[in-house]
Amino acid sequence: MRAKSRWFTKPSGRNGSAVTNMPEGLWVKCPRCAEIHFAKDIERNLRICTKCDYHYRLHAYERIDLTVDEGSFVKINDDVMSVDPLGFPGYPEKLARAISSTGLTDAVVCGEALIDGRRCVISAADFDFLGGSMGSAVGERLVRAMELSVELRIPFVLFTANGGGARMFEGLYSLMQMAKTSAGLAKMERAAVPYIVVLTDPTMAGVYASYASLGDIILAEPGALIGFAGRRVGNQDMGMKLPDDFQSSEFQFRCGMVDQIVHRRELRSTLATLLMLLAEEGSDVKTSA
Ligand SMILES: [Zn+2]
Repeated sequence: MRAKSRWFTKPSGRNGSAVTNMPEGLWVKCPRCAEIHFAKDIERNLRICTKCDYHYRLHAYERIDLTVDEGSFVKINDDVMSVDPLGFPGYPEKLARAISSTGLTDAVVCGEALIDGRRCVISAADFDFLGGSMGSAVGERLVRAMELSVELRIPFVLFTANGGGARMFEGLYSLMQMAKTSAGLAKMERAAVPYIVVLTDPTMAGVYASYASLGDIILAEPGALIGFAGRRVGNQDMGMKLPDDFQSSEFQFRCGMVDQIVHRRELRSTLATLLMLLAEEGSDVKTSA
């Protein structure tokens, strides 16, 4: 299941020039502290910088691999595919390129899985698929995942990584997914089935303004970009200087929009604890070793 690395490319020097004599994919430069690491060292460290603790972005399957019990993930909804409802110029080609470069069929992967022996429905977004943007297929996959949670009465765990927000190539059809996913979550709420969302870098715009901010429990990885509009838009619109950590996990936590910031090393155990606490009576027996 584990996806092969796609973004560990040859790093550039501090002034942006290419670092020479480095084989492609062997080295990675930390975007925060500029330290150059062996890619394998970072991989072994859950893709966290060993010097400054920067959390690199994960692909959808890498996220799932790090989170669920080995061999427990069963993929669902993968045949729900994007179409080009508006005839947007270049969109079919962009979609085809994203499919071939990521090996995914759209920007979110859904499935059933166990986390420390406890069942859940799980979804993870992939930023490399058109910025993780939410088109009609992403919305439909997520709503089907929510409906499965309700049917099975097991929690829904979702990892966001949607810097693109709503997918502009699908216009109103993608904006409609904000209402549709919110309605799916309202159904979950009425059925009293828990929804845990983990905000990872980046979670922005229409995704943040819908299902990303509607969790019963909202966790975030440290240092993630989380918000609606970017800093430049905020500065221009409000005409005021924004805090240095504006729209980071830490800023959102201070503002009460995030319940807890959880280090990547602690995420799986935190989710396992939450699933145990939220388990319905009679369902707290582990289903695997
Ligand atoms: Zn670093």
